[in-house]
Amino acid sequence: MRTLRKLRNPMLAGAAWSLLALASFALRDGLGGVVLLWVPSGVAAAAFLAARPQVWARLSLVLLPIETATLILVGVPMATALVYAVAGLVQSIIAASLSLMALDGRKMAPVRFRQVAGLFTAALLGSLAGALLAFPFRPEQSLAELAWWFLANVLAILTVTPILLLLLARGRLIGERLRQFDFKFERALLSFLIACATLYLAVLQVDLHVLMSVLMAAIVLATVRFGQMAALLVVLIYAAIATSLSVVAGSPLPSLDVPAGHAALIVQGWLFAMLATVLPIAAMLLKRHELQRELVRSNAQMRQSLALFNLAEETAGIGRWRLDLVTGEQDWSPQMLEMNGLSRSLAPDPGDVRQRLPDGGDELFSIIARNRDNRDTYSFMLTVRPNYELERILSMAMRNEFDASGRRVAVFAVAVDVTKQVRREQALEAARGHAVRMAAEAQKLANTDPLTGLPNRRCTFDRLDSMLVMAENNEAPLSAILFDIDHFKLVNDTFGHQVGDAVLVEVAALARVQTRPGDLVGRIGGEEFAWLLSGVSPQTVLRLAERLRRAVEGGREGSRLPRVTISVGIAHMDAGDGAQSLLARADAALYAAKDAGRNRVQKAA
Ligand code: GH3
Ligand code: MG
Ligand code: MG
Repeated sequence: MRTLRKLRNPMLAGAAWSLLALASFALRDGLGGVVLLWVPSGVAAAAFLAARPQVWARLSLVLLPIETATLILVGVPMATALVYAVAGLVQSIIAASLSLMALDGRKMAPVRFRQVAGLFTAALLGSLAGALLAFPFRPEQSLAELAWWFLANVLAILTVTPILLLLLARGRLIGERLRQFDFKFERALLSFLIACATLYLAVLQVDLHVLMSVLMAAIVLATVRFGQMAALLVVLIYAAIATSLSVVAGSPLPSLDVPAGHAALIVQGWLFAMLATVLPIAAMLLKRHELQRELVRSNAQMRQSLALFNLAEETAGIGRWRLDLVTGEQDWSPQMLEMNGLSRSLAPDPGDVRQRLPDGGDELFSIIARNRDNRDTYSFMLTVRPNYELERILSMAMRNEFDASGRRVAVFAVAVDVTKQVRREQALEAARGHAVRMAAEAQKLANTDPLTGLPNRRCTFDRLDSMLVMAENNEAPLSAILFDIDHFKLVNDTFGHQVGDAVLVEVAALARVQTRPGDLVGRIGGEEFAWLLSGVSPQTVLRLAERLRRAVEGGREGSRLPRVTISVGIAHMDAGDGAQSLLARADAALYAAKDAGRNRVQKAA
């Protein structure tokens, strides 16, 4: 069963060969005309091309007896029949294997000149081999006889074989689909073929020599308009008509006064010339179509990638710009146009860019000019002031493109709109500065006595602590002078609280001018002050305290405030002294001064 299935296709090929051969012999023998195109050879070549080379041996074994038997049937002597059959097989195998080589092993329509030439060579060499093998066994050994066998087979292999392969592929009889043969038998083609047939008949009746060019034009037109297969069909129709004429009128060229065999050779040669002309044209057209299709496909792909690219830029908020410095051509992404306050619809080339940019592109172009020789990416901030929109800040990264000679030929830039970030940072910076100022102000307020502007009690005590530590470390002397306004209650009572305040301010001012840099005078109570001095000898401290007392007693020159005096207590830091003990001793001295009659300076005991 399996064997039978394996033999099915070779048997079918053999049957087709046999039927067509019988038909051809019937015509040839019955009427003495000439068959112009040996169709069975086209069938055999197609059978080999349709089968895989692994089964060629099996195919040959099936075809050989069928072909021999068919030939014997029409009266060919047995030995000659065998030779003819072998010659036919050799011819088919050579043509098929050379064709496969020409088409790089694939079954497809030839799209290159090289492939067309290869197929021609395959048909020519195969047929030549067949013709030469059969020649010694032909009834006549004339050159015309050789030419007839050769041309009839070449024409069949060039026309019948491809059409059969197409039909087999269409009918899914061969597994491998024939690429590129997207051939549709349209009604227009049918009309065209009928027109060609009519034309051929007419031309053959009138004068072949003059009108041959008309037939040639028709087949070229068929090729250009309907493709490769149409050209083959036209040649087949021409051959069929010529054969019919041979049958009906005794010669394929009845108007020509030559023997029928000679006329057949003329027509065969002419058909062969036509094929040699139109098949390369058809291949060229196919190639062009293929390229066009490829171009359309890659264009569509490119458009799609560009759309994706723009989408990615949009999502990332990136604008892109390229300026060709040689041709002036530019490429703006829609996003980049928008960032510069221009309409997206101007993409990709908005025209003279300098005219379009709000500031004439001055800033941008001066940066580009400055970076003439820069071979790295250069980044900068660009402020854009569009005509009717808010100012924008773009963060740009730019790169120069150089040609082989080192000349800058283009600049490429990407931009991100950082306006929001920059504004946010600026606002943050301003807020931070304000907060720092406020904190300093608050600090100052917290440490300052609002009435006199002197350091307040807390600040004075804090400073005393740190001065004590430093004095101890440096083994430097530290002294505290405490002073209190005498009978201040009386001032308040006599002149009122406001005058009392003014007196406090004046005493503070007088004390401040007495101090030296590094000293501190603070208000530590209502009308009580402390003056802290470091690095000063006890004698000097005493002298300074006395000078202060006198200054207060003398009052400010030109002052209309009531005169007051102060009592002053002095204490010097001893080993093991803290702020408390030092101030306590100074305070005791102050009270001693009060007790001793006020307006005087008293040292601590
Ligand atoms: P002494 O010579 O013993 O120091 O007598 P005194 O009157 O100066 O002392 P006392 O402690 O009896 O009075 C202090 C007065 O200082 C009482 C208070 O009304 C006044 N005083 C304290 N702080 C202020 C202030 O900020 N402004 C005014 N105008 N008076 C103040
Ligand atoms: Mg007082
Ligand atoms: Mg007091």
